[in-house]
Amino acid sequence: MAQTTLISKDQIDQRVAEMAREISTEFAGSDLIALCVLKGAMFFCADLVRRMTMDVALDFIQISSYGNQKYSSGVVTILKEPQLDMRGKNVLIVEDIIDSGLSIREVTTYIESRGAAKVKTAAFLDKPKARKVPFTPEYVGFSIDPQFVIGYGLDFAEKYRNIPEVQVLSD
Ligand code: 5GP
Ligand code: MG
Repeated sequence: MAQTTLISKDQIDQRVAEMAREISTEFAGSDLIALCVLKGAMFFCADLVRRMTMDVALDFIQISSYGNQKYSSGVVTILKEPQLDMRGKNVLIVEDIIDSGLSIREVTTYIESRGAAKVKTAAFLDKPKARKVPFTPEYVGFSIDPQFVIGYGLDFAEKYRNIPEVQVLSD
């Protein structure tokens, strides 16, 4: 398998800082829950949240992943539920990557059903051309072509999450 750099560590740092500024401006003076979608978004969420300038609570949700596949099964189940009371709160779902849109749509519907006032999404990466269901995240780090990427939290069969940049994994 070949690995080629798509987004460098410097580009990531710069863009995540910009996103944090944008989000901090929009949510200034209001409470926010950052909901990290495990496991892929953990590095992105950690970097994003620590650059936010308003009060922010942190919570986690885990949903079923691709397993060891490069393609989505299309079936989404919740493996770990969030702990915080979301009723009347602003929730920012922090996701690693949006591909078909199926996962983020499920998470959004679920968080809305827990009574959140406003639900928005910050996605580190977006593959808009890969959508099977319509979904437009409010904040996007980088839009990329439909290809399989790893690094900065993103895995293939649990490997490569610790690579500090984004790479394309090809056969
Ligand atoms: P979706 O439900 O939008 O098809 O897929 C979303 C989830 O699939 C992401 O949160 C991520 O966990 C995984 N995923 C989608 N595309 C990629 C990719 O290119 N690389 C990796 N490592 N995971 C991906
Ligand atoms: Mg994910």
